[in-house]
Amino acid sequence: MIRRWDRVRKRRPRPRYLVIKDSVRRRVSDSGPFDDPTGFFTRAVFQKVLDRVVDENTGTERPLGLFIFDLDDFRILNDTHGVAAGDEYLRQLGKALETFLPSNAIKARIGGDEFAILLDETDANKARVFAEELARYLRDFAPVMNNRSLQMTASIGAAVFPDHTMRANDLILKAEGALREAKRKGRGKTQVFDPASLSREMVSILRGQTDRIRLALLHQRFVPYYQPIVDVATGKVVSAEVLCRLREEDGRICAPDTFMDAAERFGLVTAIDRLVISMAFDALVAQRKKLPQEFEISLNLSSLDFDDDALVADISRLARSKGIRPGRITFEITETAALRDIKRVQTFTAALAAEGFRFALDDFGMGFSSFRYLRDLPLATVKLDQSYIRSIDSQPANRVFVKGVSDICRGLKIRTVAEGVENHETLNSLKELGVERAQGYLFGHPVPDLPYTKP
Ligand code: C2E
Ligand code: CA
Ligand code: CA
Repeated sequence: MIRRWDRVRKRRPRPRYLVIKDSVRRRVSDSGPFDDPTGFFTRAVFQKVLDRVVDENTGTERPLGLFIFDLDDFRILNDTHGVAAGDEYLRQLGKALETFLPSNAIKARIGGDEFAILLDETDANKARVFAEELARYLRDFAPVMNNRSLQMTASIGAAVFPDHTMRANDLILKAEGALREAKRKGRGKTQVFDPASLSREMVSILRGQTDRIRLALLHQRFVPYYQPIVDVATGKVVSAEVLCRLREEDGRICAPDTFMDAAERFGLVTAIDRLVISMAFDALVAQRKKLPQEFEISLNLSSLDFDDDALVADISRLARSKGIRPGRITFEITETAALRDIKRVQTFTAALAAEGFRFALDDFGMGFSSFRYLRDLPLATVKLDQSYIRSIDSQPANRVFVKGVSDICRGLKIRTVAEGVENHETLNSLKELGVERAQGYLFGHPVPDLPYTKP
């Protein structure tokens, strides 16, 4: 597998994600990946391809531009000329775009009149220029149908990796947000995502979110879920990561991507973290007869937690009052959090580490992957980000990265945990590379009860 990939690259130095695109194309070709009139990818396939491409570019940080556009008057065309005319327009548009776009562009029709285009080597500046060119091209595109030439404008939104986000789903959300902004300006307009200007719509969505979060805090509807972490050598569950969930009034369980962003923006995340920490400590105590004595848990901290001057004292008081040995508790910190104010993070971690609490650097590989934190923070663990782990067997570079980090950490007596382990091949690779612990759907999804291996 690795060899073949290398050969492909040596012989033809073409953009790397085209290789993926072909393999995805092959893999999904039986399940109808292509949209009918245009021959582009469907939304479902596009999401998979985007996931893979973003994974691929993580680490090298080669920029990617995602453009989402929709045709301003397509519904009118469908209503007045019929669906067949609409399909014919789309077919011709598909053909025209094939010639207009660079040959390695990834193209998808993601909605009735909504398209996505992914371009490599495209940063925010290039995205701005390209969006304008595309808008002009679409405005001038006028296929002749029923002896009439049909002209339409399109609104375009764009977002770029890694400047606006490093997550594939988020890239789509941000390009779609930019598209809504473009539409607000009128027809045929373009907009590149601007982190500084939250649209009024976004602000009001976030406001609504804060009411939802405040209510959930009031009624203690944030609950800890637990995902097992296993020892790679023995296969035993030795620890669990606490992952927060919001239980809606109707009982639905929601993951952090539906509330964390708003919670952070409106300063509510520390209240959530306090609640989750205390509930997880309670669970450790309640389950102490069942759990192995040294069973560990790890808890996520947000960068805002370090601004809360009382948190250190509250955590140590809480552990003491419940009779929990601090060595069983690890707090996970992301590089972004450390980056924001390294001095504060150092004070916070030093105080808790002095009492025996442990710290992990989370999502290592996502950001700058600076080794400085391995030196400057009292780390017991480094968690290797899932984007490296999931493609460890298909991406030689990721394997090298994981091996390097694992070797360095071993030398520094820092434990490594691989995240996002979904199959046995990955687990075997991790064994070979000397990664000590693993977490992922292969061993279990996050669940409401503490997982452990029965003796
Ligand atoms: P994270 O700390 O990187 O947590 C790992 C995420 O990956 C979890 O998503 C988990 O469910 C998911 N995951 C685990 N194994 C696999 C796998 O094999 N494949 C794939 N595709 N995904 C896997 P979740 O629970 O949605 O949490 C998302 C993020 O929300 C977390 O990322 C963490 O940054 C944040 N978070 C969760 N709970 C808390 C909390 O109590 N406090 C704070 N501040 N942040 C939290
Ligand atoms: Ca984590
Ligand atoms: Ca993580």
